[in-house]
Amino acid sequence: MPRPIEALIHVDALAHNLERARACAPDARVWAVVKANAYGHGIERAFEGLRGADGFALLDFAEAQRLRALDWRGPILMLEGAFEPRDLELCSRLGLWHAVHNEAQIDWLAAHKTHTPHRVFLKMNSGMNRLGFTPRAFRAAWTRLNALPQVDEISLVTHFSDADGDRFGQNGIAHQVAAWTAATHDLPGERSLANSAATLRHAADAGVRADWVRAGIMSYGGVPDFPEHDAAHWQLRPGMTLRSKIIATQQVPAGESVGYGSSFVADAPLRIGVVACGYADGYPRHCPTGTPVLVDGVRTRTIGRVSMDMLAVDLTPVPAAQLGSEVTLWGQGPGGSLLGIDEIARAAGTIGYELMCALAPRVPVTVA
Ligand SMILES: *Cc1c(COP(=O)(O)O)cnc(C)c1O
Repeated sequence: MPRPIEALIHVDALAHNLERARACAPDARVWAVVKANAYGHGIERAFEGLRGADGFALLDFAEAQRLRALDWRGPILMLEGAFEPRDLELCSRLGLWHAVHNEAQIDWLAAHKTHTPHRVFLKMNSGMNRLGFTPRAFRAAWTRLNALPQVDEISLVTHFSDADGDRFGQNGIAHQVAAWTAATHDLPGERSLANSAATLRHAADAGVRADWVRAGIMSYGGVPDFPEHDAAHWQLRPGMTLRSKIIATQQVPAGESVGYGSSFVADAPLRIGVVACGYADGYPRHCPTGTPVLVDGVRTRTIGRVSMDMLAVDLTPVPAAQLGSEVTLWGQGPGGSLLGIDEIARAAGTIGYELMCALAPRVPVTVA
């Protein structure tokens, strides 16, 4: 018998979530963002659910090759562009559209030999201070690109730092939208501004409306502005379930502790289940006692420290639970029960993105 832990990828949920992005930005085309191996879901598996997208955005050239190997002939956008000059050969060969965010990338393009001019996305640093040309330098970069025979169409792109909430007590994107609009209003070309948070919260705002939105976390059912909003609020469905089983039960007398470090001490007699899931599976060790978990679809809590291969759960709300009972760590449980990955991430002091991406290679993954 294999160890009972497994991850399920719900391709119908991915397709549903993609439609949510379309509904939020009905005039835009949608990039499904599939970087980091489709946020841990697996490019090939995610593709089954997201093939209705207008294009795929990622940043690893090997992953772009995997998409082309799936026979995806549509647009692929390399979000960080070329890392070195020979990446441009792959862009030419595979027809990849690519970001241009610094002068070196323009130099490489100017020296690149190609018969097929490239579609490029000129990136503005509108305030995040990560990638892109400043608003002041943007026009000169555009003019330089526009003069290159290696360049076909120039589109314009920027990225928000605070689309999920406020910044310094103000609307989180207003300062970037203002900088963007001032510097681009008279430039031609398609535009792309919104990530998931901006798509959900701001896509209809004048100034954010654009030709393309970039739906990352929302495609996978993760909520970019949790806990202000949850998945039900945005009508998103979990794309990934992590589930396992109870492999032992214990009756813990009052005054005894559970797990490493004796961080939990029972104040009354307590029945617990021991689950085949630990931090070596990608379940965060930082989750404290009280982190929500489903046993046979019933919500209960974790008890004590998460160890490498196991964790313990309180069976008080599920007296019928026994060896072999199903445990949902996040995602879709039995009988329509749900446990948002964002809740687990929050308990661990992180975000759902990190948990999806950190699903461990030892966990077998099935397409559901
Ligand atoms: C990752 C990424 C996205 C997607 O962000 P989400 O918050 O997951 O929607 C969009 N644009 C760029 C440039 C990115 O790097």
